[in-house]
Amino acid sequence: MTRRIGILTSGGDAPGMNAAVRTLVRAALSFDMEPYGIYRGYHGLINDEIEPLNSESVSGIIQRGGTILKSARSQEFMTPAGIEKAVNNLKQHQIDAVAVIGGDGSFRGALELMKQGIQVIGIPATIDNDIPCTDYSIGFDTAVNTVMDAVNKIRDTASSHERIYIVEVMGRRCGYIALYSGLACGADSILIPEAKFDLDEVCTRIKRAYDVGKSHNIIMVAEGVGLNLKPPVENISVTIGKHIQEHTGYETRIVILGHIQRGGSPTVNDRLLASRLAYQAVRLIAQGQTGKMVGQIEKQIKAFDLDYALAQTKTIDMEYYHLAEILSTL
Ligand code: ATP
Repeated sequence: MTRRIGILTSGGDAPGMNAAVRTLVRAALSFDMEPYGIYRGYHGLINDEIEPLNSESVSGIIQRGGTILKSARSQEFMTPAGIEKAVNNLKQHQIDAVAVIGGDGSFRGALELMKQGIQVIGIPATIDNDIPCTDYSIGFDTAVNTVMDAVNKIRDTASSHERIYIVEVMGRRCGYIALYSGLACGADSILIPEAKFDLDEVCTRIKRAYDVGKSHNIIMVAEGVGLNLKPPVENISVTIGKHIQEHTGYETRIVILGHIQRGGSPTVNDRLLASRLAYQAVRLIAQGQTGKMVGQIEKQIKAFDLDYALAQTKTIDMEYYHLAEILSTL
């Protein structure tokens, strides 16, 4: 029977991580297990930043963005010596199971712990929504709502000055944030890594829109679109902005939303998702299962082998993309 569960958050922080930590702690207590917080992800695990948690330690955090356990990236954990230190620390504290809240890199780290006999369960949390075997990861819904709020404001000034705005959002390999927020905000064009784009076609659409009296144009760009080009282009929004201004003659501005997308109080959807996934994680630990991640597929909470999940590629629903195209065509 598992007695002690370590909890860590790793990789990029995501709103809703705290809701997951809160559930892990309280659910563990309800299963008569002792929860331990591991601070600063694998970095803190190696440096023995481990402390017991209780119900009170997670009071008043469900509405907070970020992670009370802090997050970090650790190169040392990617070495055999680092993993050995981490496992020794867990043994020292008699922690036999670890719940890892993070993205695919963090899950790869969890598998390394499993190889050393530690029971591990992964809980998907990243605003990018690039983790397979779950429809949504914790933090995505809050991030797209943040983008939507920002674009509402950008639209006001875009319209007053009759400008084109390129809005760059996060998503290096995956266009979920750009696609969902673009559709929700009525963006005129959406550029994502999953779909080929033609800048001349974007310019034609802009001109057509202005010809029929539209006073502004919003172009949603996922930061990773330039990486698919040959040769790859960093700072793709600047390149796109210049091209559009030169080819349409309209004033073009670039807004890179950046880390604002990571912050903020989690939405209802993220709090519910985090609570449900984390509760299932504790149930799996209590059952003695290991090497799994929890995910939500069509509202059902399920478990998948981490090995299997990490071998998959998260796909995007192109129906959303085609719908956005239809709705923005004048
Ligand atoms: P995000 O999607 O927000 O970037 P992530 O979990 O994918 O989240 P990473 O930086 O890729 O973030 O991984 C977090 C940490 O997990 C790394 O700093 C490293 O310590 C550990 N990690 C990643 N890949 C491996 C691996 N192959 N083996 C061992 N540990 C790993």
